[in-house]
Amino acid sequence: MLESLARGIIWPLLIGAILGGAAALFGGPALFWGAVSLALAAAFIIQFITFQEPVLRPAEPGSDDPLGLLSPQTRLLLEQLPMPVMLLDGAQCVLFANKSMRDVLGIGLDGKRVSAVLRNPEVLLAITDAGHGESSNVSFTLPVPVERHFQAYAARVSVSPPVTVLLLHDLTMIRRSEQMRTDFIANVSHELRTPLAAVTGFIDTLRGHAKDDEVAREQFLEIMATETARMRRLIHDLLSLTRIEMNEHVPPQGRVDLVGVVRQAAAVLMPLAAQDGIVVVVEPGPALPLVLGEHDDLAQVFQNLIHNAIKYGRENGRVTVTLGQQDGQVFVAIHDEGEGVAPAAIPRLTERFYRVDVKRSRERDGTGLGLAIVKHIVNRHHGRLAIESTLGEGSVFTVFLPPAPAENSAKPPLPEYVT
Ligand code: ADP
Repeated sequence: MLESLARGIIWPLLIGAILGGAAALFGGPALFWGAVSLALAAAFIIQFITFQEPVLRPAEPGSDDPLGLLSPQTRLLLEQLPMPVMLLDGAQCVLFANKSMRDVLGIGLDGKRVSAVLRNPEVLLAITDAGHGESSNVSFTLPVPVERHFQAYAARVSVSPPVTVLLLHDLTMIRRSEQMRTDFIANVSHELRTPLAAVTGFIDTLRGHAKDDEVAREQFLEIMATETARMRRLIHDLLSLTRIEMNEHVPPQGRVDLVGVVRQAAAVLMPLAAQDGIVVVVEPGPALPLVLGEHDDLAQVFQNLIHNAIKYGRENGRVTVTLGQQDGQVFVAIHDEGEGVAPAAIPRLTERFYRVDVKRSRERDGTGLGLAIVKHIVNRHHGRLAIESTLGEGSVFTVFLPPAPAENSAKPPLPEYVT
């Protein structure tokens, strides 16, 4: 690189020196430095335009080193590419594999036959076809250590010496999100289908043999009201989740007093708790700083968590909400005395529609979306949700939120009213 730079620079410098000499002779020192700077600038521009090494050098006659085709810059560029790249010789042995390719297939690839490092028949066929001049694209899956999906592109890049390139495009994330979308639609349809089927069934019964049965009619109407309420809750939660996801990247603007929010959420849920003989106690602790947040979103977080503590808590038991500070964060911990959650299920609780006990959740008017909503709101607030649980003893759901920065006392004065 330095050698070629020196080669490229020499002529403009020579011309610059002559011009500079002439300028010093006839125009004095100012003109001399001007001419030297101009010559240097020209030298660099000329170096970049005319003396750049080509990406693939033409193979030197009689050269049997295929890697001689690559300039050092090209090698460096290929090494740094985030996309897995591999070059193969005429015997399908690895000439070069960049870091991304080594991350996929492992280290020590150089010199090995491609069939020994990538055992996929379609990809091997694509490489053979590429060696005959036919570029091709194939999709394949690597099952271990974790399932990954790729699209492979093979093409011949040099005939003499023979070199084939293999590029991989990682489709794993795309496939995963497609799968999540399909699962989500299947889950929503399933959740709606059950209450809808119940309502449709009762409408038919009321039109048919239960037409004149007043007792049955009251009973069926009651069930229909429950089922439609379930559908309404599900749609409400789905819309909340969509709205929260859409705003997840927008930093919250308000300054919120968590004690007030928690007290309000607990007060709203008191009558529900009373039905199960549960007492909700808020322990606010010492004075807490405000947090940066959206009041309504945080109210939803604590309503969902306190509601869950009541739904899955112990009848005639206690739900305790403790507030405090830890490691520079404000926390709200909701303790219940319910059956708790098995350790294996804890990481899955915030997944949409995940429920440890579907029947219990349905009986308690659950939609399976409450904790997913909590997780997204907490993420938006740059906070953290910690879940601890002991089977047979109860659970603690703790939300950590960063405190709001101190308000700037030197605020700009409010604009005066225009009369
Ligand atoms: P749901 O509407 O079913 O309550 P959530 O997303 O709020 O949905 O909660 C998901 C699941 O997590 C619940 O179905 C329940 O199995 C479990 N869960 C949530 N909170 C608690 C808790 N305090 N104690 C035990 N299990 C809980």
